[in-house]
Amino acid sequence: MIRIAVNGISCAYGCFPALDGVTFEIARGDFTGIIGPNGSGKSTLLRAMSRVLKPSRGAVLLDGRDVYAQDPRSVARRLAVVENDGRSEFGFTVLDLALMGRLPHLGRFQRESAADVEMARACLESTGILHLEGRKITEISAGERQRALIARALVQEPEILLMDEPTSFLDISYQIDVMDLVSRLSREKGLSVVVVLHDLNLASQYCGSIILMKDGRVLASGAPGDVLNQANIREAYGSEVMVVRHPVHGRPHVIVLPKPDPAARPRPVERGRIHVIGGGAMATRLMGMLSARGFSLSAGALNVGDGDWSEARRLGATVVEVPPFSPITESDMKGNVEAMVGSLAVVLANIPFGPGNLRNLEAAAEAAAMGMPLIIVEGDGVACRDYTGGKAAASLQRLASAQGDGIRVTRCPDDEAAVLAVEDLERERGAVVSGEGGD
Ligand code: ADP
Ligand code: MG
Repeated sequence: MIRIAVNGISCAYGCFPALDGVTFEIARGDFTGIIGPNGSGKSTLLRAMSRVLKPSRGAVLLDGRDVYAQDPRSVARRLAVVENDGRSEFGFTVLDLALMGRLPHLGRFQRESAADVEMARACLESTGILHLEGRKITEISAGERQRALIARALVQEPEILLMDEPTSFLDISYQIDVMDLVSRLSREKGLSVVVVLHDLNLASQYCGSIILMKDGRVLASGAPGDVLNQANIREAYGSEVMVVRHPVHGRPHVIVLPKPDPAARPRPVERGRIHVIGGGAMATRLMGMLSARGFSLSAGALNVGDGDWSEARRLGATVVEVPPFSPITESDMKGNVEAMVGSLAVVLANIPFGPGNLRNLEAAAEAAAMGMPLIIVEGDGVACRDYTGGKAAASLQRLASAQGDGIRVTRCPDDEAAVLAVEDLERERGAVVSGEGGD
């Protein structure tokens, strides 16, 4: 059941165009996020949907009829808005403010009943501010006021809830509380939620679909996994990000990367290639450090979607890929060893081991046996990242103490030490080559 249809609307402030041909639909129980950089038109869009700003073209249909053809009180019975413009209604208490949510439901001269007051108090309870019911809303914190405004919107018992950055003044615990509360109402009561969010990860975690705005237009829309990718975020925000799968809820998780320093010296001349054995985003920092120093990279075997996989690709590495969440097969392992051949060194990052990636340890052992220098980053020790019941720890122990013809294993406490070890090897290699040349 479509509740709101936004049909090709354009809006302007004077002659300044703020929205240009925006179209989408919101059904019962939808939880839709609106994201986009500052000034992209998100608040304007909510104003147009809530009958505050009339579109110059197109229309917003509420239950099939243009909102502007409907009585404002009747719209207010179905649609509530939590604005974010810092306005405060002077003199009112928190309870007064919450009770205002009943107004569209009361007759012209009708006063709130005891049931209305109970309901308002219940909503203050659910937003965690019942203890402040008697306080003036000018005398509470911004986060508390934000929760009072959310309570007022809930008191309105709307079918559609529009919220403009409702979490911007809330600490992380209340952000989650507010999002959990509205997402429960959406699931259990069919409330349609449209929420403008700055936090892309909050949007990813809660929204069924996301609309990404830029310059008054919809740049992308769809499921979080379709919208939150490197290309879209670069185009909308001009930011470089890494998108990984969140370890708990499995949705995309956006990590913003530092902007390149324009004053930084140009990259040093190409150095040799280092093969990094990563996984679980544990090699991301190390690969960045090596790449920044001019080493080229290869990496593997990595599951598609892993943080290290996307970082390796971003850095232009050759990657030995394994399908998402799949174990590394014998042939992946061989491919990984082949990719190591010709590299200056193989670095085994301090990655977690499970049954699925034990073959990465076998590949490292094979490389060492073939005479390739192996650098092991030990971190806090393998015990705390061994999910194989001790198998990984035992193999790593064997590998770390491996000795024999041409075997060269260096153990390093951390990423910094591994980079130094790589540079030592490079110097040694250079010395050997020039030494041979002098003969
Ligand atoms: P967002 O909420 O995405 O940050 P807005 O919808 O508030 O963006 O603004 C979209 C564009 O419209 C911006 O360029 C902004 O400067 C402009 N704008 C917003 N409100 C007004 C206003 N009241 N008068 C004139 N221009 C405005
Ligand atoms: Mg805004």
